[in-house]
Amino acid sequence: MIEFKNVTKRYGSKTAVGDASFDVEEGEFFVLIGPSGSGKTTTLKMINRLIPLTEGYIYFKDKPVSDYEVYEMRWDIGYVLQQIALFPHMTIGENIAQVPQMKKWKEKDIDNRIDELMTMVGLDPDTYKNRKPGELSGGQQQRVGVVRALAADPPVILMDEPFSALDPITRESLQDDLISLQKEIRKTIVFVTHDIKEAMKLGDRICLFNEGRIEQIGTPEEFLTHPKNDFVKEFIGSNKDKSITVGEFVSMNSGSAEHGNYPLVDEDAMIEEAFKIFAEHDTVAVITDAGYKLLNRQDVFRHLSEKRGDSA
Ligand code: ADP
Ligand code: MG
Repeated sequence: MIEFKNVTKRYGSKTAVGDASFDVEEGEFFVLIGPSGSGKTTTLKMINRLIPLTEGYIYFKDKPVSDYEVYEMRWDIGYVLQQIALFPHMTIGENIAQVPQMKKWKEKDIDNRIDELMTMVGLDPDTYKNRKPGELSGGQQQRVGVVRALAADPPVILMDEPFSALDPITRESLQDDLISLQKEIRKTIVFVTHDIKEAMKLGDRICLFNEGRIEQIGTPEEFLTHPKNDFVKEFIGSNKDKSITVGEFVSMNSGSAEHGNYPLVDEDAMIEEAFKIFAEHDTVAVITDAGYKLLNRQDVFRHLSEKRGDSA
């Protein structure tokens, strides 16, 4: 869906992104992560041509991005920013309607779309549609930001640290919403963050940048089991002890459950056994003396990527 081939971006003599190559598959949740100044935003903005590249090629649906009209890129690629960027004088409904209106959708279709999307992220349209952004909380506004990017049903969404200005609880709840939303909509999402826990929780694959260079690309499982070098290890905090059994992990959660149709894992298995299953399933059922306990992929990776000394 999106392909980078030896892409370099220089500002004068400074290389912001150097020789970056990667593929983002259709329907994939692809996370760009790295320290501040490592080239994440530059990489993201080169996709929709907000920033021109210096060398190399970027393909969108097998065609170089330079062959598209700029407006096509802006309409076919949704964009969510860190700072909430709704138009303050417009209602929530009008904000969401922007791109569909530019694409000359019928009024009725736009209305239906607004209702559908707001409902999907838990904002009752009748209550909120006619309010101004200032009447909503930060978390609600950022939900609208996500919905607005989805409005014209673009195949690709770019998100640049969309939740980093929110408090931790709101942030977690928007992450959870985004996971369930993505299960429904199956968009190609390129998501920038500097938070490894967020990356591990959300990403199908993660691309780690350091000073404009890609250090490693892989699934959360691969980052934890096969970090390529010390930088990667340090970044994901994988000095954390992973020689832990599934049972020990599950004892941190409480309550037993029905195992439903989830794959079963014995409580004495090492946590890395569960990784293999997480490649295919989001949830496993752990067999313990006290019955079945469910274990979620997101919770495991988030926990394992917490640096030693972090509180759980
Ligand atoms: P990140 O999003 O990972 O924090 P950026 O992609 O914004 O990093 O920036 C990568 C590097 O490029 C940084 O060193 C930054 O200072 C530099 N840079 C970004 N934009 C410009 C610009 N317009 N002019 C000069 N240097 C820039
Ligand atoms: Mg940035």
